[in-house]
Amino acid sequence: MTAPVIRGWCPGALRPMESGDGLVVRVRPPGGRLSPAQGRALAAAARIHGNGLIDLTARASLQLRGASAAGHAALIADLRAAGLVDEGPAAEARRNIIITPFADAPTDALAARLAGALAQGPLLPAKFGFAVDCGPVRVLAQTSADIRLERAADGGLILRADGCALGARVTPDTAPAAAAALAQWFLEAGGASGGRGRMAALMARGARPPAALAPTDAPAAALPEPQPGPVPQGVLAAIAFGQLPAETLAALAALGPLRPTPWRMLLVEGAAAVPDLPGLVRAGDPLRRVHACTGAPGCGQALQPTRPLARRLAAGLPAGAVLHVSGCAKGCAHPAPADLTLTATACGFDLIRRGKAGDAPIRRGLDPAMLFLEDPDAPL
Ligand code: SF4
Repeated sequence: MTAPVIRGWCPGALRPMESGDGLVVRVRPPGGRLSPAQGRALAAAARIHGNGLIDLTARASLQLRGASAAGHAALIADLRAAGLVDEGPAAEARRNIIITPFADAPTDALAARLAGALAQGPLLPAKFGFAVDCGPVRVLAQTSADIRLERAADGGLILRADGCALGARVTPDTAPAAAAALAQWFLEAGGASGGRGRMAALMARGARPPAALAPTDAPAAALPEPQPGPVPQGVLAAIAFGQLPAETLAALAALGPLRPTPWRMLLVEGAAAVPDLPGLVRAGDPLRRVHACTGAPGCGQALQPTRPLARRLAAGLPAGAVLHVSGCAKGCAHPAPADLTLTATACGFDLIRRGKAGDAPIRRGLDPAMLFLEDPDAPL
């Protein structure tokens, strides 16, 4: 099997990444929210400058696909006019913050102050990120982040280094500077090397935050991943494979402000329901339990197309089972184990049971045209 390429950096809007279908231009909505006008502008930019498809990433960013190098400047001008682009690549890289989609006004204000504090801070490894998860409930426990602002069981704020069970007490006033100080400590403690490094790995090597940020309190219990449908803030609209057409984004933006989530769903604030639109899936649809990356030809590393196979197999997926169809062993769409994983190779698909895309398969070289699912425990 060909080893997947580990790039070690993520695309941004100002620093796009070349892929099999052109440039991938990733937009991190300021404050974790798109106004209706920004939603429409993003949809228009995807249609005009890209291939009209928009990905929702596992860190709640939106990425336009199929842009050209020649059209990148015009795309950025349109995004900048909508207030969706940072001043420069360094500012864009520093604003690596995911905000709970259920943020209340104090949480939004805290996230804005954190962004301000980080704008003055050091450059961190590309994948090093912050989570502001102190809304009414804690929901980002399973979302990748290195430094987390959360609530303790008594409702107070804590600052927690990922990989550490406890966090340090902070207040809304002290939290932004404390988070920046913890990031600085991460660098000084040797957490980064060659532009890479994650907090949990540093913790696993035995490092502990400095005395001023000594961990004392556990975070409040986390809720499981929300399901599509009504929530107190509006409606969660689920997106098949986390990719939607620009027309659907524009139609959702017409219903209200949008909050991207890390769960392949957009929160449409203030809406009571969403209509059936291309790319959306309802709660209970087996596609909600199917993960498939871009695959071939959109990803240059993919060894086979993925989503047509995933869509066909979804119909036979047993209740509760999770299927992952991956274009290579990297497993971008679902880094966690799945009941069944099909990993593309140059000669078909390998089958992994209760594992990840790169784990040892129990069957090799399966012909996708001959694949059907009946029971996750039965041999294919
Ligand atoms: S897992 Fe899929 S999206 Fe990720 S590199 Fe491999 S083929 Fe590309």
